[in-house]
Amino acid sequence: MMKAAINDRSKDLVFIGGGHSSAIALQLFGLNPLPQVRLILISDTLKTPYSGMLPGHVAGFYSYKETHIDLQRLADFAKAKLYLDRAIGLDLANNKVICEQNPPLAFDYLSIDIGSTPDTISVTGATEYAIPVKPVPKFLSRWNEILKTASERPDRPLTISIVGGGAGGVELAMNAKHRLDRITDNLKIHLFHRGERLLESHNRWVSKRLQKILLDRGINLHLQERVSEVFPDRIICESGLNVECNYIFWVTQASAPKWIKKSGLTTDSQGFILVRDTLQSLSHPHIFAAGDIATMKDYPRPKAGVFAVRQGQPLFENLHRILRGETLKPYIPQKQYLSLIGTGDKSAIASWGKFGFHSPLLWLWKDYIDRQFMNRFDRT
Ligand SMILES: Cc1cc2nc3c(=O)[nH]c(=O)nc-3n(C[C@H](O)[C@H](O)[C@H](O)COP(=O)(O)OP(=O)(O)OC[C@H]3O[C@@H](n4cnc5c(N)ncnc54)[C@H](O)[C@@H]3O)c2cc1C
Repeated sequence: MMKAAINDRSKDLVFIGGGHSSAIALQLFGLNPLPQVRLILISDTLKTPYSGMLPGHVAGFYSYKETHIDLQRLADFAKAKLYLDRAIGLDLANNKVICEQNPPLAFDYLSIDIGSTPDTISVTGATEYAIPVKPVPKFLSRWNEILKTASERPDRPLTISIVGGGAGGVELAMNAKHRLDRITDNLKIHLFHRGERLLESHNRWVSKRLQKILLDRGINLHLQERVSEVFPDRIICESGLNVECNYIFWVTQASAPKWIKKSGLTTDSQGFILVRDTLQSLSHPHIFAAGDIATMKDYPRPKAGVFAVRQGQPLFENLHRILRGETLKPYIPQKQYLSLIGTGDKSAIASWGKFGFHSPLLWLWKDYIDRQFMNRFDRT
């Protein structure tokens, strides 16, 4: 157990969002408590999803419970007070978090891990008619409605469009197809991607393999198509392509909520909080950020759950150090990282730099890693 500081007055450390890094940090605070430090968690949900298992939940391989971290239980373990509320702003002059329902909450130190949401603003009709995959609770509630409707009327044609050919969109297409094919024979899935190949941040073998899997499974792939307008029953692309559909899932580039930039924190050009390699805000060193909402100024990385998970331990260590008045330590994320992409059939693709490999054994390995991650929260 780490040694505790002797402070003259108690300090409030507030966490906004119970994302992957926050969850790990809170668990470690539970194991390494500090006297005279009050922990507070503001979360807009009581159950936060684990991104690695979310596509598997869509496919029906995992239950809701298996894929969600119970934040109330975690807060109890960490002796943190949980506010079920949404942060909507920061008063940085007075060090307060502005919430939707509660009065402003004061902090000495703040840690932000609120994730990101797909950008819907840039396409006409997307905000009104598309279903963004984040926030996940809203997405899952719509997904469950679709499952229910399809089960009640399997004879009806069901067409789903998915916009975005990154890992999220492609995984969603394969896993949604797996689940719905077991309910109806009348399913069509369209995937739209503006780039010339899928998962452009991965190597060409991975893109090609995923493209072949989608086509073999009868998913209609529209590469180099920019969606320009969305209606309740159709999608229109800049090329003139016009596709009728019942539902539209939005899995485009990650975007940050506007209130972050408005609060006065220094952000990158897209509104994500710029942090140093200690995970402290560039402009406000008593504020930390991790996961998708943070951009490491010197080590930018893709917005992916794997980085949010890895930042959990260094986030905890630096929060613990600052509370004890100690010097913080830099954290340098790996440049090359292994991605395991589930292909919706209990098989997975490993992507590592220039290398790629596809096998059911990789699914077993991914399943083991993901379950290990979730099991750590069962022990709290
Ligand atoms: C379909 C899909 C599949 C994906 N698959 C993978 C994958 O296999 N591997 C991978 O590495 N990445 C994957 N990703 C990306 C991954 O989901 C994100 O990178 C990851 O979730 C980021 O974690 P985080 O801790 O930053 O935030 P999140 O996991 O998004 O958590 C943020 C938390 O903060 C809460 N919150 C948000 N706003 C507020 C607010 N204002 N006030 C209070 N609480 C708030 C949210 O409810 C949530 O609980 C996938 C994404 C999608 C959409």
